[in-house]
Amino acid sequence: MSHPEWTEEGDGPLLFAAETGPAAPATGEAWTVLVVDDEPDVFAATCLALREVEILGRPLRFLHASGAAEALALLVAHPEIAVILLDVVMDSESAGLDLVARIRGEFKLSKPRIILRTGQPGYAPEMRAIRDYDINDYRIKSELTRTRLFTVLTAALRSYQTLEAVEANRADLQALLEAQTGLLAAETLPAFAEGVLTRMAALFRVPVEGVFCGGGRRASDGGEPHRVVAATGHYAKWTWQRIDHLAAEPPIQAVQKALADRRSLHGGGGLALYLPSRTGSDAVVWLAGIERGHRLEGGLFAMFVQSTAVAADGVRLVERLREAAYVDNLTRLANRSALVEAIDDLLHDPPDLPYRLLLVDIDQFSEINETFGDRIGDALLHGVAARLEAGAGSAVRVARVANDTFAAVGPREALVPDDWARRMDMPFEVEGLGIGLSVSFGGVELDAGCRSGGEAIKMAYSALKRAKQAGHRSVAFYSHEVANEIKERTRLLHGLRAAFEQQRLFLVYQPQVEAGSGRTIALEALMRWRTEDGRLVPPDRFIPVAEQSGLIKDLGAWAMRSAIAQAAALHAAGHALRLAVNVSMNQLLVPDFERMVGEALAAGGLPATALELEITESVAMQSPDVVLPKLAALKAMGVGVAIDDFGTGHSSLSSLEKLAPDRLKIDRSFITGLDAETGGDSIAAMIIELARSLGVKVVAEGVETARQRQRLQALGCHELQGYLFARPLAVADLPDWLARPPMAGEAPP
Ligand code: C2E
Ligand code: MG
Ligand code: MG
Repeated sequence: MSHPEWTEEGDGPLLFAAETGPAAPATGEAWTVLVVDDEPDVFAATCLALREVEILGRPLRFLHASGAAEALALLVAHPEIAVILLDVVMDSESAGLDLVARIRGEFKLSKPRIILRTGQPGYAPEMRAIRDYDINDYRIKSELTRTRLFTVLTAALRSYQTLEAVEANRADLQALLEAQTGLLAAETLPAFAEGVLTRMAALFRVPVEGVFCGGGRRASDGGEPHRVVAATGHYAKWTWQRIDHLAAEPPIQAVQKALADRRSLHGGGGLALYLPSRTGSDAVVWLAGIERGHRLEGGLFAMFVQSTAVAADGVRLVERLREAAYVDNLTRLANRSALVEAIDDLLHDPPDLPYRLLLVDIDQFSEINETFGDRIGDALLHGVAARLEAGAGSAVRVARVANDTFAAVGPREALVPDDWARRMDMPFEVEGLGIGLSVSFGGVELDAGCRSGGEAIKMAYSALKRAKQAGHRSVAFYSHEVANEIKERTRLLHGLRAAFEQQRLFLVYQPQVEAGSGRTIALEALMRWRTEDGRLVPPDRFIPVAEQSGLIKDLGAWAMRSAIAQAAALHAAGHALRLAVNVSMNQLLVPDFERMVGEALAAGGLPATALELEITESVAMQSPDVVLPKLAALKAMGVGVAIDDFGTGHSSLSSLEKLAPDRLKIDRSFITGLDAETGGDSIAAMIIELARSLGVKVVAEGVETARQRQRLQALGCHELQGYLFARPLAVADLPDWLARPPMAGEAPP
């Protein structure tokens, strides 16, 4: 195992070098020497002999005890006593050795060094006692000259110092081991980094003021700037900043130097510890207030640093794995999996406040991407991510769940779509361009009965889909009714598609008659779908589904061709009737719609003038730029145009003039009112009047009673359609119907 280098900044001596000896005590602090002797003169002489002497750089201080009891009391009161000069023979011959036995045995004081002195030459204590009681020296008093005393004391103090250092090391080792445990439990680099800072501060006995810089990679490993992963105390405000953005700060300068030199050093008023990495993402811990020449012993501490570095690598590895699973690569936001888990947690342990999930989708992002290219598209996604994150409070979590779809989950009042839409209003500055965009929202309340994060996202998606259909900058929230409706529509669409392929769709024809004579002058083709179990699905139900799915294009073309063929057959049989065919918006918008109609007419052999297209008022008024030229082209071919359901939309007179229809069809709802004794006919009357002023024909639909017929005739409406005359008829019933005498009305009053 190679230790990182421990050097001071500049050319100073090695710090924590392996050969560093026992810690040097603060100079000036005196060594305490206890003299135990029943003769006060001996104490005075000892003090005199060693007056102003310094040993190992420190002066001496003397305490005196004239008996065993006094000596023990002083030893307890002064744990700093380093050496005991002990008279062997005091009141009894064994008094000295008895005291040694109590110091070492009973009082368990193993550190103070003991030098035995005796006045009687020739008297020798048992060798065993010297060995067992850890006695440093045995001298005859007269032998102890000033110089001799100095040498003996120096040896004893040196050995005392060694003992002290060993003890300190043991305490440090304990602290280091304790510091290490727990660090490995951290799951994220910031949590780990904070742990390292607090534990290191505890080890050095300094306040927790520092930074942990990591998370970066060297250019050779993909180059990512180091950041302040964790910061404490005064430096807390630097958290998660890039260190190259803090380069003016002295502590960061020390960090950068440590990274550059790959070694630990002093600087910026603290110690920068370099943590090497096997995986290319090294780190530096910088702690304030650690002076040069700190007591911590080299080998041990180096081991701590080494194992911390290894642990950091491990944590980063775990973090990377988590990241890969939970972080979106492009924006660094949480990804879909992380969002699912976050919602799962919320559902498992519901907060007091109501929470919601909001999907935020960029309107027409693929067009933006196509126009500006992927690079700018990516930059925009970054920009949107940043704005979403900046706007999210601490309780809101932002994620990216798909290409241009983001999500936010949080308290309801923090997730108001309007507020979030406004955050996107300012154009995004990308490569000198100001690009504007809008977003749509799909939301779900988390208490709306979703059972899992995945389900909540699905629900929000179905709301988003609805919002998108409604256009830009739309908002929709999930509701069960809507969801059931969507499910039903999907089911219906599958059935319709199958029915169409299996030719289970057919047309029926409802006659339109001349008001007075009751003579049939036209047939309106109406689509029918009979399911396999014989049910009839009303067109009001399946036409919108066909519209939304685009299936209407094929359905409409089929209806047009069959109706034209049918009408042509009737023409050939002598019934030169007008044919009315309904056309919906999406059908009309098909680029080659006019050509399709022309081809159907040619194929069926029906004159264009015999065909009239019914388009509803709302379609006619929508997108005039597209609709008007198409209708103009059709009219140029000779095809007629009727405005269906007239009165229910919002046509203006000017748009009606531009449209120049051949016929207005008064909506059935205005016909029903004609049954009333008085009034009720004002709208029908107005429409008939309007048609007259525009020089346009008018037909009333939904005529069910003779009274309605009468009133319409009186108002000057000359064409009628409704159950009073005929329900929509099957093709097989048409010849019979046409052979019947017309149902003449009463002469108008
Ligand atoms: P619409 O074009 O307004 O058709 C008239 C509807 O009124 C028809 O309903 C018809 O059966 C019904 N009706 C006619 N006389 C009476 C009456 O006296 N009383 C009552 N209560 N109803 C009457 P239908 O066939 O259910 O069609 C509904 C709508 O579906 C049509 O309204 C039309 O907008 C659409 N549609 C039907 N066939 C087609 C088609 O081939 N293509 C397109 N695009 N839409 C179609
Ligand atoms: Mg119609
Ligand atoms: Mg109608």
